[in-house]
Amino acid sequence: MGKVLLVTGGSRGIGAAACILAAQKGWDVAVNYSTNAQAAEGVVRQIEAAGGRAIAVQADVANEDQVLAMFQKVRSELGPLQGLVNNAGVVDVSARLDEMSMARWRRMFDINVLGSMLCAREAILQMSTKHGGQGGSIVNLSSAASRLGSPGQYLDYAAAKGAIDSFTLGLAKEVAAEGIRVNAIRPGLIDTEIHASGGLPNRVKDLEHLVPAKRGGSAMEVAQAIVWLLSEDASYTTMSLVDVSGGR
Ligand code: NAP
Repeated sequence: MGKVLLVTGGSRGIGAAACILAAQKGWDVAVNYSTNAQAAEGVVRQIEAAGGRAIAVQADVANEDQVLAMFQKVRSELGPLQGLVNNAGVVDVSARLDEMSMARWRRMFDINVLGSMLCAREAILQMSTKHGGQGGSIVNLSSAASRLGSPGQYLDYAAAKGAIDSFTLGLAKEVAAEGIRVNAIRPGLIDTEIHASGGLPNRVKDLEHLVPAKRGGSAMEVAQAIVWLLSEDASYTTMSLVDVSGGR
């Protein structure tokens, strides 16, 4: 049996690529999803077909009861965690700040920020040597938006990812002596369905001229960095914010 990894939002996009690549590297993978069970089962089947071990597990990361039940299920079916990828995240439609509602901001921060903090808390309770664990690695998905600010589009999303950067820096220091490394990836324009969910299905093509590399990235290119940060090859890397953005 491999080391146990939970990927939130592992059913589609970057999360799905991370699940598939991590399984190839020997991790036993819990594939979290919120609503799309079919997509999560598809990732599990793909991992199993390649000889890996995986389960699908539902939880809205912004719902504490569902998150607690998810961590319990993963522990009882796969064993104690040694890896967490806080990948579940959402955008919203383009708007200026003076057009946005409190309800939109609450959803943005509940899922993107509080969901990541909640899952990290539960992971630390299993991983930390202070709590009898064997240590581990946490990778948070931030965004290039935390640097760029996303004016006129979704600066609430950018601000939420800025919070993820700060959270990563602080948590990395807090648990470094307990065997846990904490890092973040800041992807740039990556070709997934997230852009269509924000009403801009062609966003990658439309903006790729702004990327020094002159193209969008793939989910697997981000997954490569995630799985490296999870691995022992990154054993002295903690508190890093890794830009996977083609230079943007
Ligand atoms: P995506 O294709 O839209 O996939 C999102 C995933 O998150 C799905 O598996 C979805 O599951 C899950 N999810 C959404 N809300 C959830 C919730 N409340 N609880 C649990 N799971 C939830 O997104 P992506 O492009 O792969 O993005 C992944 C991460 O990378 C996000 O944090 C995003 O902000 C970040 N990122 C992406 C880009 C990019 O260009 N794509 C750039 C920078 C940063 P369901 O289908 O079940 O809802």
